[in-house]
Amino acid sequence: MNLKLSFHPEFCQDTLCHSDTALRCGLDNNCPPELQDNLCRLSCLLADIQKSLNIRNGALKVNSGFRAPALNEKVGGVPNSQHCLGLAADVVCPEFGSPSELALAIAQSPCEFDQLILEFGKWVHISTAPSGQTPRRECLSIFNKEEGYLEGIVNR
Ligand SMILES: [Zn+2]
Repeated sequence: MNLKLSFHPEFCQDTLCHSDTALRCGLDNNCPPELQDNLCRLSCLLADIQKSLNIRNGALKVNSGFRAPALNEKVGGVPNSQHCLGLAADVVCPEFGSPSELALAIAQSPCEFDQLILEFGKWVHISTAPSGQTPRRECLSIFNKEEGYLEGIVNR
């Protein structure tokens, strides 16, 4: 049976593919059909987080979701970024709290994320595991490239 995954309405395909940079630079940032299932699973994960943290609809903001390779290069993303596979989103939720407060709450929730990274104290990178893989629930923080990734959600 070929079960078709679907998007949670709060985190629809348009929301997860939107990019101001792509628009400004005239880059095509549509998710290719073969990555749609990944994007649907990401949509579900974001909806789970919203529900688990009791965040109202519309308050969890996706700054960057899917990135076509050209966009990823433009924004300086790592080459093998999970964003390029439709598996990751960078989110903020000022209504809930600071990025570190949001990251800590997600880390303490039962949500099945693959990686949770507090990035530069400014946003939370969250990813879903590739199909068939067990979510790692790995928590990291990065404040600057020289220092690199730190274990856990570090509140600075
Ligand atoms: Zn990210």
